[in-house]
Amino acid sequence: MNIHEYQGKEILRKYGVAVPNGKVAFSPDEAVKVAKELGSNVTVVKAQIHAGGRGKAGGVKIAKNLDEVRTYAKELLGKILVTHQTGPEGKEVKRLYIEEGSDIQKEYYLSLVLDRATSRVTMMGSEEGGMDIEEVAEESPEKIFKEVVDPVIGLTGFQARRMAFNMNIPANLVGKAVKLMLGLYQAFVDKDASIVEINPLVVTGQGDVMALDAKFNFDANALYRHKDIVELRDFDEEDPKEIQASKYDLSYISLEGNIGCMVNGAGLAMATMDTISYYGGSPANFLDVGGGATAEKVTEAFKIILSDPHVKGIFVNIFGGIMKCNIIAEGVVTAAKEVGLAVPLVVRLEGTNVELGKEILNASGLNIVAADSMADGAQKIVELVG
Ligand code: ADP
Ligand code: MG
Repeated sequence: MNIHEYQGKEILRKYGVAVPNGKVAFSPDEAVKVAKELGSNVTVVKAQIHAGGRGKAGGVKIAKNLDEVRTYAKELLGKILVTHQTGPEGKEVKRLYIEEGSDIQKEYYLSLVLDRATSRVTMMGSEEGGMDIEEVAEESPEKIFKEVVDPVIGLTGFQARRMAFNMNIPANLVGKAVKLMLGLYQAFVDKDASIVEINPLVVTGQGDVMALDAKFNFDANALYRHKDIVELRDFDEEDPKEIQASKYDLSYISLEGNIGCMVNGAGLAMATMDTISYYGGSPANFLDVGGGATAEKVTEAFKIILSDPHVKGIFVNIFGGIMKCNIIAEGVVTAAKEVGLAVPLVVRLEGTNVELGKEILNASGLNIVAADSMADGAQKIVELVG
């Protein structure tokens, strides 16, 4: 789960990480009110969307007076911002962060990620912050430093100091940088984050070391113990199909292709997507209906697939173990009748109650193409979609 920059900075403040003063605003009037309260010479108006690259896309504006704050707030609110992280369709700006302008001396990069290869939290830092860190990683990887954290001991002062020196933080500010790193690490662990990225981390003319940007990503499997984080969820930033799916406890991920997939079991779902790709098709989604799904849940899943205008055909691939084939068949038939099925449907059923399932499908009068195997089904749906 992602949150906005202003929400991330709120968390950082609680952990003693220095961030500029600022507040969220939902209208130009509010933006001006916040700017007045801040009373700084320079105010920054920042578009809040769940994507980076806002600076380059015109989503970060430097205002020198309250009139400019109003002008920029009006300009940004309601605007579709297209950054290299939003995809071509962009994201609508509905919230702004109004922040004190910082007197930036230099921009650095600092992040914490869970490195799956070592199964450890890893801190990464670089002197080359503020720009595309991906580019630095590709062209001059030696400029990115890493500290792998022992989970029992946690991030040590020694590691933080070594990182600060590697990043070439001015010697007199290393103490402040270390405090920031330790606070950042504590926030990461306490909140079960999977990513915390500060780009840029800055050193200011006043000798402060501050987080000027904050990107948080949280482990969805740990959200049950973080009610405070769940409350920060912004549904406007999420795919409506995925929100609908989460209401029914379905594992659904929207993708770019045109073949809708309904499968039980995450492994089979992945294999189904691979098989579709292998035969030249492209899946519109990942969907695992789970083991103990009810007909209602299956109906809902099918409706979600059909609500995607890109879907030009559906492949149902079920191996009935715990899940019974007749339940799947009932769900498919109910949903198809409720919302109308205008695209080809290929079904491969195997396992518990398969005969009953096939009977239900045959008796439904729906135009269903039966498949004998996963490969057969994938080939058929790819052909039908064309
Ligand atoms: P993004 O990563 O989405 O582009 P950032 O928050 O990193 O957004 O902002 C982009 C750039 O805007 C920063 O690298 C920095 O140069 C400038 N900037 C952001 N916030 C401030 C601020 N409070 N004061 C001065 N400059 C800022
Ligand atoms: Mg940034």
